Amino acid sequence: MENNSNFIKTIIEQDLASGKHTEIITRFPPEPNGFLHIGHARAIVTDFELAKTFGGYTNLRFDDTNPVKEDDIYVQSMIEDIKWLGYEPKNIFFASDYFDEMYERAIILIKKGLAYVDHSTAEEMAKDRGNINTPGKPSKYRNRTVEENLELFHQMKEGKFKEGECVLRAKIDMASPNMNMRDPAIYRISFAEHHRTGKNWCIYPMYDYAHPLEDAIEGITHSLCSLEFEDHRPLYDWFIKETEMPNIPRQIEFGRLNIENTIMSKRFLRELVETNKVIGWDDPRMPTLSGLRRRGFTPEAVKNFILSTGLSKVNSTAGYDMVEAAVRDDLAEKAKRVMAVIDPLKVTITNYEEDKVELIEVDYLQGHPEMGTRKIPFSRHLYIEKDDFVVTKPNNKYKRLSVGDEVRLFHAYFIKANDVVFDKDGEVIEVLATYDVNTRSGSGFNERKPNGTIHFVEATTANKATFNFFGPMIEGDDDMDLLDRFNDDSWEVKKGYVEHALLTTQPLDKFQFMRNGYFCTDKESKDDDLIFNETVPLKSSYK
Ligand code: ATP
Ligand code: MG
Ligand code: MG
Repeated sequence: MENNSNFIKTIIEQDLASGKHTEIITRFPPEPNGFLHIGHARAIVTDFELAKTFGGYTNLRFDDTNPVKEDDIYVQSMIEDIKWLGYEPKNIFFASDYFDEMYERAIILIKKGLAYVDHSTAEEMAKDRGNINTPGKPSKYRNRTVEENLELFHQMKEGKFKEGECVLRAKIDMASPNMNMRDPAIYRISFAEHHRTGKNWCIYPMYDYAHPLEDAIEGITHSLCSLEFEDHRPLYDWFIKETEMPNIPRQIEFGRLNIENTIMSKRFLRELVETNKVIGWDDPRMPTLSGLRRRGFTPEAVKNFILSTGLSKVNSTAGYDMVEAAVRDDLAEKAKRVMAVIDPLKVTITNYEEDKVELIEVDYLQGHPEMGTRKIPFSRHLYIEKDDFVVTKPNNKYKRLSVGDEVRLFHAYFIKANDVVFDKDGEVIEVLATYDVNTRSGSGFNERKPNGTIHFVEATTANKATFNFFGPMIEGDDDMDLLDRFNDDSWEVKKGYVEHALLTTQPLDKFQFMRNGYFCTDKESKDDDLIFNETVPLKSSYK
């Protein structure tokens, strides 16, 4: 991996040099409560690439400690997305695999006098916790005896209390300047059904308690996470130490990646899905990995984008032009270069024989013989883009077709427009043109220069197609409600034609439609109803 030099790598090198570790083990620990987005890709790339650099490995661990929001659908999608990015976890684990051990370790804390069952209400607890400027107030349950706490915790587990009636709390320091250390909750009650453990448990560990234990159980050496966990690190270390875990992982934080005009929060993305603002988690406008994939992004483009943003200790915001540049660079060498006419205008070549179709063999991508060739049909009946024609040439800068002028059709012949057919509203509906048989592409003809080169498709063999274009999904200001910022005009549909060879295109095939942009075949595309999603325009649309 290029550009892999970063502060975490330096720390790992030191830990290896000092003999602190002999093998590097990292983990990517998503909560399965939504689909992965491009922000997660920063964590995934960091976790997997660093371990790989040092010959170590990475676990995928589902942090499934909150039964209400989690589901197996998300588990499966996350596994698929990580694989798509090109990474293979050494193990796939679940936090819920460790519920027994976490429970036992909580009992160690209680026995050491370091945890107690608190029957205060949530409001009382929040009030007692105080704020940065004032020390908190100890709960009236803080001095329960070890025996009492053991019994009450057991009863919590047995379902003797209602949701919210009590929690198990760590007994640390109610006056700590770090609010996270003011007796955080370790276990809470929930009777929701868990996607893996069903109704086995009605108490669930809190993230801050569960996470360090999960890392330690798996022997993770470097637990990499985003910056918002920095203030939680003392608590992370406290739990590792006081629960007497044999392995001691080290938490290291890195800056979160944000992208302008892009909201990357599973909660918000889920709201869009649930309110049908989008067609699903893989809507091509979504910043989810499945959305980007459906839009035509390659895993390499995503990775290159992540690497181009660097990795540092501060949060950063990348421009969308950086995302576009990464995908354009990658597709330039991968996408088949073919022709699509998105807003068609009929052209009849009046000096070309009726019923004859000739075939012109052309590389899918010049300089890439391994991508093969296809045959482009040419005949009396063609389509060009409406935009590529005006009746009267406006000025000499106009390099397209007009009456009396000649253009080259890519891969085919020079054609000259001689006349037009109007409909009753005065709209041009057909161009009557002639072709010059001597100008066939590849013939070396150079006696005249055409007035520009445009693309076309042969009308009788072309496939009807639907083209989806996408604008930013989110607009407006940060202080607006997120759902109100949804851009209802962010999906535009156009109809047209693609060249004959695309008849058998399969979902995720990548194309450059010459002079139009990069596109990808949609998963709903059928032979008799081809659908293409614009991945990225040829040039930056960002101003
Ligand atoms: P979200 O709020 O979108 O659900 P999350 O952080 O709650 O994100 P997790 O499932 O907990 O989602 O994320 C797994 C890992 O991915 C965490 O270690 C988290 O730090 C990291 N991560 C998530 N979003 C980003 C981001 N934008 N930049 C860098 N890392 C991220
Ligand atoms: Mg989270
Ligand atoms: Mg979240």
